Amino acid sequence: MQAIHYDRATDVAHALRLAQQPGAMYIGGGTNLLDLMKGDVERPRRLVDITHIGLDQVIELPDGGLRIGALVRNSDCADHALVRQRYPLLSQALLAGASPQLRNMATVGGNLLQRTRCPYFTDTAFEHCNKRMPGSGCGAREGYHRMHAILGASEACIAVNPSDMNVALAALEAVVRVAGPGAERAIALADFHRLPGATPQIDTLLRPGEMIVAVDLPASPFARHSHYLKVRDRASYAFALVSVAAALELEGDGVTVRQARIALGGVAHKPWRVAAAEAALAGQPLSDARSRQAAALLVAGAQGRPDNAYKIEMAQRAVVRALRNAANADNAASTGERA
Ligand SMILES: Cc1cc2nc3c(=O)[nH]c(=O)nc-3n(C[C@H](O)[C@H](O)[C@H](O)COP(=O)(O)OP(=O)(O)OC[C@H]3O[C@@H](n4cnc5c(N)ncnc54)[C@H](O)[C@@H]3O)c2cc1C
Ligand code: SF4
Repeated sequence: MQAIHYDRATDVAHALRLAQQPGAMYIGGGTNLLDLMKGDVERPRRLVDITHIGLDQVIELPDGGLRIGALVRNSDCADHALVRQRYPLLSQALLAGASPQLRNMATVGGNLLQRTRCPYFTDTAFEHCNKRMPGSGCGAREGYHRMHAILGASEACIAVNPSDMNVALAALEAVVRVAGPGAERAIALADFHRLPGATPQIDTLLRPGEMIVAVDLPASPFARHSHYLKVRDRASYAFALVSVAAALELEGDGVTVRQARIALGGVAHKPWRVAAAEAALAGQPLSDARSRQAAALLVAGAQGRPDNAYKIEMAQRAVVRALRNAANADNAASTGERA
């Protein structure tokens, strides 16, 4: 049994100091980290509890956007009046994830950093996982890969990012604010998560010891017409096979798209956006045929393996349906649903 030192940080500066110690990890809600520690996948020597440092508020920004503190619980974020009003897409995505009990514990920062659910990664009985043990191989490539990536994968790793929240944040062009030993910095959500390449053990651009302090959402014209569609094996308490965050700004005729944002989840190591797919919708009346063209651009270059190739068609159908739902929406927040 390994001894673990526990510290409760009192503010951000204190947390950053504590995290400089060897083997330290931050702990938010603990809903992912504690599972991985029990499974011997993560082995911190020190836990820095950041749940008492503040950063648990949603604040209005002067440009009409919102700053969501890293310690805001997923339930509180989903239910916050300003989030529901201005970013119903985010509220829907959060409510499509996990269970009410988990969402009551899970934090925004922890959700951003939750690790893949690839079973070869989470179960140490498997010997081959480059993400857990760099250089050991990838068990999923020739093994169980029904949930795995069709886009942006590498020889080394075909895992997907499991978060629903991240998909909505990608479509909403969120910015992650990070504090570290140096100056605070801001990283566009689009850049925050990495593709696996030859170093799949590195999930994000976060540097050792850095802490997420907030997520900024820019003012959005997509409040009215957006939809989060999650396709999964069960209607609740299951990770996405494929998910779509679709957001539309429509012209006054209610049909012509002024601008569109589409992000795919469950298909890559990070939320997947393709500018050409969104541009293909702009200035055009929305139709299923046009949505299908955009969907084809989104999955261009997708590569399926025997047990996950189904995702290529599923993702395109889900995009068409999510765009149709977004156009027809006059948003009240709702949960994800089966395609
Ligand atoms: C049974 C189950 C089902 C689930 N289903 C879904 C689902 O359908 N969809 C979905 O999206 N998610 C799902 N989840 C995942 C859940 O959303 C995550 O576990 C949760 O969001 C993680 O947040 P946390 O605060 O508990 O993170 P923690 O477990 O505390 O931390 C996770 C990681 O983030 C780091 N960390 C935490 N906060 C910070 C910070 N501010 N700065 C830097 N590092 C930090 C920790 O060191 C750790 O590495 C499920 C989880 C479980 C257990
Ligand atoms: S897909 Fe990635 S996480 Fe899964 S076994 Fe391969 S290297 Fe490990």
